[in-house]
Amino acid sequence: MTTQLSTTDLIATIEDLGYKITTPRRDLINLLGNKNEGFTAEEISKELSHVGRATVYRTLQLLLAAGLICKLAMPDITPRYALSRLGHHHHTVCNKCGAIKEFRDSTIERLLKAAEPDIDGQLVGHRIEFYILCKTCIEK
Ligand SMILES: [Zn+2]
Ligand SMILES: [Zn+2]
Ligand SMILES: [Zn+2]
Repeated sequence: MTTQLSTTDLIATIEDLGYKITTPRRDLINLLGNKNEGFTAEEISKELSHVGRATVYRTLQLLLAAGLICKLAMPDITPRYALSRLGHHHHTVCNKCGAIKEFRDSTIERLLKAAEPDIDGQLVGHRIEFYILCKTCIEK
């Protein structure tokens, strides 16, 4: 089951935000559509050799600002990006291969709510990344 945005949704959302869909942007978005396991800006830049590095970075920033992709801080290595599902979610990131998956867990949300009285201020958001060894890496 996936509610992941399709390439068409991504393009439509960017157009709705008032941005032009140029050929490099379209190529980049089409490529991202196949990147279910997450990606780094560098990987995208390499695969799209005809698209300038600056365009890749700028378009990723645009998608990030629009909430269409998520940026994940990685321990020791470059940040990875992943296409975003609609709505609030958390991530598991494989420490070995970098595969990113999204998940929701109502227990976590309840725990955070329960912690709110102990926080000096109002909780307005959170990000949680679970660093794991994915099944594929365990079986290797
Ligand atoms: Zn995400
Ligand atoms: Zn892995
Ligand atoms: Zn949450």
